Amino acid sequence: MGKKLLLKNAHIEGIRYFETYRKHGGYEAAEKALKMKPEEILEEVKTSGLRGRGGAGFPTGMKWSFLAKPEGVPRHLVVNADESEPGTFKDRYLMEFLPHLLIEGMLISSYTLGSNTSYIYIRGEYSWIPDILEEAIEEAKAAGFLGKNILGTGYDLEIYVQRGGGAYICGEETALLESLEGRRGNPRLKPPFPAVKGLWERPTVVNNVESIAAVVPIIEIGGAEYAKIGVGRSTGTKLISACGNINKPGVYEIDMTITVEEFIYSDEYCGGIPNGKKLKACIPGGSSVPIVPANLLLKTINGEPRYMNYESLADGGFATGTMMGSGGFIVLDEDQCVVNHTMTLARFYNHESCGQCTPCREGTGWMYKILKKIEKGEGKMEDIDLLWDIQRKIEGNTICPLGDAAAWPVAAAIRHFRDEFEWHVNNPELSQTQNYGIANY
Ligand code: NAD
Ligand code: SF4
Repeated sequence: MGKKLLLKNAHIEGIRYFETYRKHGGYEAAEKALKMKPEEILEEVKTSGLRGRGGAGFPTGMKWSFLAKPEGVPRHLVVNADESEPGTFKDRYLMEFLPHLLIEGMLISSYTLGSNTSYIYIRGEYSWIPDILEEAIEEAKAAGFLGKNILGTGYDLEIYVQRGGGAYICGEETALLESLEGRRGNPRLKPPFPAVKGLWERPTVVNNVESIAAVVPIIEIGGAEYAKIGVGRSTGTKLISACGNINKPGVYEIDMTITVEEFIYSDEYCGGIPNGKKLKACIPGGSSVPIVPANLLLKTINGEPRYMNYESLADGGFATGTMMGSGGFIVLDEDQCVVNHTMTLARFYNHESCGQCTPCREGTGWMYKILKKIEKGEGKMEDIDLLWDIQRKIEGNTICPLGDAAAWPVAAAIRHFRDEFEWHVNNPELSQTQNYGIANY
């Protein structure tokens, strides 16, 4: 059984409510933190090695230490709850079942950063969760953990929940800030990073829900103890939302020392693949990260098996590697068609492109059209090369990472599963009625 820090109390009935949360040790970390100096808390977070859980894995303590502190200018913490990455639903779970863990994490983090007004920006489709969060905020306020002069320390904090309009791009931190300011969610060029010029041009830290929730156990057990869990630069625990062709889809807390094979096949986690089917591939970090074929996931690399952590999943770079990303773990069995899967993703990215940059706006549309043609059995061999060429012209040439996110799945699919693309070209009639997986296994 892996170590549980975030979900250790998730099974307790009523843990969503302040009274039950408090009865099980809730807000004790906040009480401890408010007796510490902000610099001491920052040191604990740095020592913990916590890396951003939204997808980029940027060290949280380092991000906090970049926060500019110009005299007389308010600073803000903004929690990115616009969890829209296909296959990713772990923040939803945290907010729905453990809202006070997020509020407590926000209290500690806001105090450390010097924010008196902090925000949760939540995706519009999570329509039932803002009410849960707002109820938790009211409960915390009534108990003296939010509002004016918290626990008699002189520190004030208000937390507001802002509902997004349902655009994937608003999860990109600068688009999120634009949207929070009331404008269309178009990403800004970075630098300047939000830590210097963020919400209303004020210094702002934007952190993922899980990152902020993780600050609670870091204060509870101390940064050094937290850093002992996991391995290398993958410290602490990580929430993984597992879906696709597995027996037990759900949200799991792992300590990043388990292998990919164990995660897929053990009963503690995904419980294997239904109907005894073979594993074809995984997308381990949400749809934006490269797809990896089973042979590269289950075999050893440099004498080591693949582990569920930042370093091991990236081993081999983009030739064989992928990314931990947002922790959205998508499993494809032998019946699935990679061309069909890639086309579905291309349609998604094309629909969600904000349209500011030509390579993304035009390229995602071209990729979708070509993939649709190939998938329907109407493609030519040259189309596969054209697809490769287009994705290369998008990668690295756009304002925000959505361009890369659209290009990488196409690149990895062609790199690892070119035979499936060629099968569609060579079997136009079969392509109309079947997919590659069904026809070939
Ligand atoms: P990024 O690497 O540009 O930035 C990571 C964070 O570090 C940002 O907050 C950024 O402001 C900060 N940062 C980096 N360098 C800095 C500096 N020099 N000074 C101050 N701050 C600095 O990545 P990103 O655009 O934030 O995130 C991309 C990732 O998001 C992708 O890899 C993908 O996995 C993930 N993603 C997640 C979801 C989701 O729903 N969770 C959706 C889409 C994408
Ligand atoms: Fe918009 Fe795409 Fe450019 Fe990002 S990469 S700013 S989503 S057009």
